[in-house]
Amino acid sequence: MPYTLPQGFESYFREWENRIGAFIEFDPAKDTPVSSIKDAVSGVSGLPFAVKDNISVQGFGVSCGSKLLANVRAPYTATAVSKLLASGAIPVGKTNLDEFGMGSSTDNSGIKKTNNPWDVSRVPGGSSGGSAAAVAAGLAPFALGSDTGGSVRQPAAFCGVAGLKPTYGAVSRFGLVAYASSLEVIGILSDTISRCRDVFSIIKGADPLDETSHNAPKGAPGLDARNGIKGGGKGVIGVLSPEAVAKAISAAGDSTGGSAGEAESLKIAAQAAELEPEVRKGFEAAKKNLSDLGYTLKDVELPSLKYGVPAYYTIATAEASANLARFDSIRYGKRPDWAENPDDLIDKAREAGFGAEVKLRILLGTFVLRSGFQDRYYLRAQKIRAGIRLNFEALLGDSDYNGPAGACDAILLPVFPTRAFDRGPSSLSPFAQKAADLYTCCANLAGLPALSFPASVEGGLPVGVQLIGRAFAEGTLLNIAEDYE
Ligand code: GLN
Repeated sequence: MPYTLPQGFESYFREWENRIGAFIEFDPAKDTPVSSIKDAVSGVSGLPFAVKDNISVQGFGVSCGSKLLANVRAPYTATAVSKLLASGAIPVGKTNLDEFGMGSSTDNSGIKKTNNPWDVSRVPGGSSGGSAAAVAAGLAPFALGSDTGGSVRQPAAFCGVAGLKPTYGAVSRFGLVAYASSLEVIGILSDTISRCRDVFSIIKGADPLDETSHNAPKGAPGLDARNGIKGGGKGVIGVLSPEAVAKAISAAGDSTGGSAGEAESLKIAAQAAELEPEVRKGFEAAKKNLSDLGYTLKDVELPSLKYGVPAYYTIATAEASANLARFDSIRYGKRPDWAENPDDLIDKAREAGFGAEVKLRILLGTFVLRSGFQDRYYLRAQKIRAGIRLNFEALLGDSDYNGPAGACDAILLPVFPTRAFDRGPSSLSPFAQKAADLYTCCANLAGLPALSFPASVEGGLPVGVQLIGRAFAEGTLLNIAEDYE
């Protein structure tokens, strides 16, 4: 049955959508096979939701924010979306993103601009900026996004909503257009934590169409409220203090016996780790509130974090260069009107279809993978990735869900060093935006679940903080954030 918008909502929607431009396509009345709303009993039954435009919903477009794919219609539906349809939720449209998920502002979209509903001169964050802005403006109670290096959590923080990046493999990636397959996962942006829990409980689980998907192992904490914290108490939260991170990185930079390049990279990381004063205030407020709620806070360190961004961009661009090779305008995408021969056809299509950031990343990816150089870049990045995973295991424990003695139940850290930035001269450069992925990309490199939730509002803009937990312990993170809410 086609969905009709509640009375009065249409004009509210139009007014806000004109200001923020969250959607690439909005068509709530599309004849999507939603399970009969009356029969479905679930937390999402009858609720509208928005879907990032790199996730397929049959009948809707799937542009990935790229001019090259602007006219492509999805021939099938992503498993995460199918599960929501079966639970009675209604997909109302597709949201804007940085092209193929590459960016932190949604300004890298080849289709349109999206503004932050809190202040329309500012970006909504990215890459799932359209999904975050739609939820923040009340245009949908929840939305799906994808998180490869922070793309659900950072826009959630910029727009003052909840953003869950599940454990790698906890949600099927079938129907998500791949950017960096070993890092990414479909995630949730929602107005409340309990809604996030409802949606996650529906979309999670192994899927025969995605060989990397898993069910939670035996012993993993369930999703029920109050599960997953050991000893019946409130639990232990490790605090990754940004000052300590910046200090440790600078110290490493001073004493490095490595190359000038390494010292330079550490200098950049130390700068990026420092928080804007308002974000620091929000982080301190979160610490105080969590301690007042009865959690035990203790300072922790994550020594490999300093190399996280270079490792992330090496692996992500390497995978992107392979994943994006399929977009040649022969099988998918917009063909040029005329070409000399097939090679010329592909060249012309990609030249006109891909934006500058995508081209840069394809080049970077082929650079780090070129023959004879894998040891220097790609394999080193994989070693750093293993180091980050081991650092987290030392803090959180591994498959033993009680953790080692003294283990933390979750790690608290910032999401991003700034609040939503503007597009003026004080904006972050594309390079600074990448360096600022420091706090988000580490959860993707380790495959761990991470939740961004609003901590406070500072100077009229929301500040989010982040919790990272053990694999498949999303329930623990949701419980802590719900306590906070
Ligand atoms: N800022 C990261 C990047 O540009 C985030 C990507 C993502 O999570 N899709 O790669």
